[in-house]
Amino acid sequence: QPKEQLDAVDTVCPYCGVGCALTYYVDRERGGISYAEGRDQPGNQGRLCVKGRYGWDYAASPQRLTTPLIRVDSAYPKGPLSADVKADSGEDGDGKRGRKPGGLVPYEEVMPHFREATWDEALDLVARRLGEIYAESGSDGIAGFGSAKCSNEEGYLFQKLIRTAFRSNNVDHCTRLCHASSVAALFEGVGSGSVSTTYGDIANADVAIITGSNATANHPVASSFFKQARRDGTTIIYIDPRAGTVADHADIFCQLKPGTDVALYNGIMHEIIRLDLVDHDFVADRTANYEQLAKTVEAYPPELAAQITGVDAETIRRIARIWGEAGAGVIYWGMGISQHTTGTDNARCLIAMCSITGNVGKPGTGLHPLRGQNNVQGASDAGLIPMFYPNYQSASDSASRQRFEQAWGVQLNPNNGLTVTEVMASVLDGGVRGMYMLGENPFLSDPNINKVRKALAKLDFLVVQDIFLTETAEFADVVLPASSYLEKDGTYTNTDRRVQRGRTVFDPPGQARVDWQIVQDIAQRLGLGWDYRSPREVFEEMVELMPDYANLTYDNLGSTGKLYPNPDPEHEDGTVVLFDDRFNTSDGLAHLVPAEWLPGKELPDEEYPYVLNTGRLLEHWHTGSMTRRSYALDSISPRAEAYVHPGDAAELGLTDGGLARVISRRGEIELHVKVSHREARGNVFIPFHFREAAANLLTIDEIDPTGKIPEFKFCAVRIVPV
Ligand code: SF4
Repeated sequence: QPKEQLDAVDTVCPYCGVGCALTYYVDRERGGISYAEGRDQPGNQGRLCVKGRYGWDYAASPQRLTTPLIRVDSAYPKGPLSADVKADSGEDGDGKRGRKPGGLVPYEEVMPHFREATWDEALDLVARRLGEIYAESGSDGIAGFGSAKCSNEEGYLFQKLIRTAFRSNNVDHCTRLCHASSVAALFEGVGSGSVSTTYGDIANADVAIITGSNATANHPVASSFFKQARRDGTTIIYIDPRAGTVADHADIFCQLKPGTDVALYNGIMHEIIRLDLVDHDFVADRTANYEQLAKTVEAYPPELAAQITGVDAETIRRIARIWGEAGAGVIYWGMGISQHTTGTDNARCLIAMCSITGNVGKPGTGLHPLRGQNNVQGASDAGLIPMFYPNYQSASDSASRQRFEQAWGVQLNPNNGLTVTEVMASVLDGGVRGMYMLGENPFLSDPNINKVRKALAKLDFLVVQDIFLTETAEFADVVLPASSYLEKDGTYTNTDRRVQRGRTVFDPPGQARVDWQIVQDIAQRLGLGWDYRSPREVFEEMVELMPDYANLTYDNLGSTGKLYPNPDPEHEDGTVVLFDDRFNTSDGLAHLVPAEWLPGKELPDEEYPYVLNTGRLLEHWHTGSMTRRSYALDSISPRAEAYVHPGDAAELGLTDGGLARVISRRGEIELHVKVSHREARGNVFIPFHFREAAANLLTIDEIDPTGKIPEFKFCAVRIVPV
């Protein structure tokens, strides 16, 4: 149909942290989206990847939840408990509950254990049971997981509900599984958890290090900026254990052994100092603790770093020289850096690399953890973090607590809450008994899910608010049908700190409701007396309490959004480069924190000789609840595959497309083999989107001691042909 006959709705892509601005062209007569187009916002300049362009039809799936559900069969083992969730290739029907190939949930198996309910019935039950558990067990008995899929306003209201109704700071979201270690290191080092510059600022860099990031798959439009910069003269250094396609565009590809990042960066810094490429003025004026850092990296000459990392010493020296001599250098990193038990140390090294060479605070320089979900930055800003109120105001600091007590009119809990990774352990120990899960699916996303399912099944009460009956919802006592991002207004904040407006394309289907209203309905039943009439009102309250959001209004966000901090309401686009004259730390200095290299927690051995690395594919998104219900995306990438090096495949007797069993100390899965020259010998990569071959059955639940992020990128496995 010609464009002029379609209804154009400007909104934001719901998937990755790039947060591309797009327009849906809607055929109101037919009642569906005809197509999507990128818009000319500074962060995407009209570009979209395959997910943004084609991945919206999930919202019209016949599997959408359209009415509240209440569990009827208390004897029914909650969730897939009948046997260890041993994955199959999807071809048999051996009675395991769960998803069949193509991402379909066998509702006929699950639905008889729920009955349809009215909203009043379901909400009354939620408020009554959570209230009872709070009365019996206090604040420690309740936890809530919000979601980076939700808007800023929804995230804000959700954390406010948990903190005020239950006086509990046990509220967290998937940042814990993605960049919590990066944020911890950035807070400690520069006093702010967000990026110091945008990905588009690579255009001003002489050299860019892209590390631990398969950006082409995970941040596709950002990676197009990286590739463009190289064509325009920026030197690209790509550092990763996998030869992601960014390697094809890099000047230097440095394929290090998994889990050896600290040794590599210490080796590079050793050489920078030896060659006297340090920016001494910057170090003297703007950093603290340089001597201690220099002392630590002195013990990592390139030859030692080479031994640990597998990268030859000459390459380490070359990177040091290029980085040290650059007029402007910037580092972009992904979860290959953050998802380790040494994730915080890895990020500390990157902060130090930039700081000792003066590569922060001017165009083309800085620190940018590429955030995973489209609103993980916003959800974190909005306070979906156990230790922080909105805008990272410490929950354990009495001044900030008083500010929020005054604003919210209740007394708040002075103790930090539990993280996502700590809540499940608490459930198993009998601490947390009741949970409110908004848009999260820990059954597939958390590490070591045999342990997670035991925890979910042990809960006295679980309410899940989602758009589909996800794997986690199968454990629920009450399921609340929510809205997709196409069905609500709200703001979203991308990896660049760009706050943008999402707009309603359709009404929610059936009786499904907009999420912020459901949260408010529960708050009212718990006696909180909330009366927000729109997301706009919620946003206005947030701006009052969040200094970083100063000068932002629903109206001045326009159609392309604004970066925060925003110096004045009329400012064109907010601030690209932070820290031009001081860091956000209390003394204004960058705090250099040295790190010693530590090996992964579970090293390969004779029995489990391969290193497992997990992550995402271009066409799919997290636990697949949306993308596996998108026809185009699921057709391109319909099945789980284990990526192995051709040499390993030959040695193990694996064939491309054949079946293999991958086994760890925690579980095993069967899936197809993809022979790929992009993997290094001794490593296997498995995406975590597929329930029928759930990679997190294999992963280890060891966590980083500071960021509390799991080691998704490193555990030992065995591979056998089937
Ligand atoms: Fe959506 Fe990210 Fe693709 Fe942009 S790059 S269209 S935000 S998934």
